[in-house]
Amino acid sequence: MTKNSTGLPPAARPTDRPSPRAGILEIAPYVPGKSKATGGTKVFKLSSNETPLGPSPAAIAAFQDAASSLEIYPDGAATALREAIGEAYGINPARIIAGAGSDDVLYMIGHTYLGPGDEAIHSLHGFNVYPIIIQAAGATPVAAPEKGFTTYVDAILDRVSEKTRVVFVANPNNPTGTYLPFSEIRRLHAALPPHVLLVLDAAYADYVRRNDYESGIELAGAAPNVIMTRTFSKIFGLAGLRLGWGYGPAEVIDALNRVRSPFNVSIPAAAAGVAAVKDKAHIEAAVAHNEEWLPRVTQAIEGLGLEVTPSVGNFVLIHFPATPGRTAAEADAFLMGRGIILRRVTSYHLPDALRMTIGSAEANEAVIAGLKAFLHGAAS
Ligand SMILES: *Cc1c(COP(=O)(O)O)cnc(C)c1O
Repeated sequence: MTKNSTGLPPAARPTDRPSPRAGILEIAPYVPGKSKATGGTKVFKLSSNETPLGPSPAAIAAFQDAASSLEIYPDGAATALREAIGEAYGINPARIIAGAGSDDVLYMIGHTYLGPGDEAIHSLHGFNVYPIIIQAAGATPVAAPEKGFTTYVDAILDRVSEKTRVVFVANPNNPTGTYLPFSEIRRLHAALPPHVLLVLDAAYADYVRRNDYESGIELAGAAPNVIMTRTFSKIFGLAGLRLGWGYGPAEVIDALNRVRSPFNVSIPAAAAGVAAVKDKAHIEAAVAHNEEWLPRVTQAIEGLGLEVTPSVGNFVLIHFPATPGRTAAEADAFLMGRGIILRRVTSYHLPDALRMTIGSAEANEAVIAGLKAFLHGAAS
């Protein structure tokens, strides 16, 4: 049968209204973390891995300064931002691409390297934006199973076919919080065919304190088929501004720049990013807060009899039993009634778990007390 540019036989497209091209309506829309509680006098939003410390005061000041020139188009190449990032991370600014969030960079990767007939691999409990991006580009997502809620290199390699064009790996992964030692990333890369682009999503890299972890800067600097993405949404506290970046081979960055929306990073976002990346003390404070609370929260919740997947990020995945009265859905509703918003992760194929962002001391204590009341009765 002849097909039009949409990939659908002409007869299948209704002529009485615009219809999206093939596959678009099969995309399961992204489910963001909730932002409204059902009860509680004070609300603790721990559903989107935002930082309790907020952004650097210098970033807020830079954002406010930018208010005086809003009628001016931004520098489309985001030169000052790329230079500041290059300096902070010791990398060549010419090989950096900036985006409106790292999601923007990930979408550019999808539109540049994927099309109908192609496949891209992501892990089963990997970041949910990957399958959306893959399908939006008209390609087919292939989910690789995990081992112990951790990306499983052999399962990814087993699924590489002639059609594979991209492999997405979040390291550490969201929502599981687990990570792969860099030896495993190198093993994955070494076994991939050279035409497959390996995307290392290092959204939480700044939080990780493990000797065997690397974000991928060196590999993305050396290999012709690796790109690393980073975000200002998490440890930098600029999620509302939408700012992220990618670092990779000159050829890949050049191709992405052809697809990039011309003024994708706004002046206030770039200005705040420049200030944020320079404020090392603020980042250290965020790491120190997480280093204190990640183990405390993990141990306290385990002490209540729940399983917590060991995390290296600023969030934990909490597993609930399927027993009526104790399920993840019921815990979520209970906590919501106390003003505590965690993240349901059913869309990540984890219906029996909730993800909790490490929040302020007060928020973390509220979750621990809330879970205790849920499991063992409010009196205890
Ligand atoms: C939060 C997150 C991002 C960041 O997305 P932005 O578009 O930069 O806000 C990217 N990848 C993962 C795995 C994340 O959890």
